[in-house]
Amino acid sequence: MKIKIVHDECGREILVQQVLESQGHCPWDGKPFERDYTAMLAQALVASENAGSVLESALEKIAGMNPEITIDRDSILELLNEYIDRLNAHRVRGGT
Ligand SMILES: [Zn+2]
Repeated sequence: MKIKIVHDECGREILVQQVLESQGHCPWDGKPFERDYTAMLAQALVASENAGSVLESALEKIAGMNPEITIDRDSILELLNEYIDRLNAHRVRGGT
């Protein structure tokens, strides 16, 4: 899974790999994304992508088995949406 992020300050798009390489700083302007935990932030973003990839491939495998079950969408997405909403809530400027 490739997670796309945008730096609030410059509005440019950044890939997690770039955040890792810059240790939590914007590759475009060099500013830190977080004052105290830049390295931890970079690691958590990498962990999110890796976990997302594991989830993706497991779901693909399950879908390929064509089992007689239905997955409750909210049981997977509701909490994820909640965290993303909370994370994005600080944005004061517009944007997408
Ligand atoms: Zn920036």
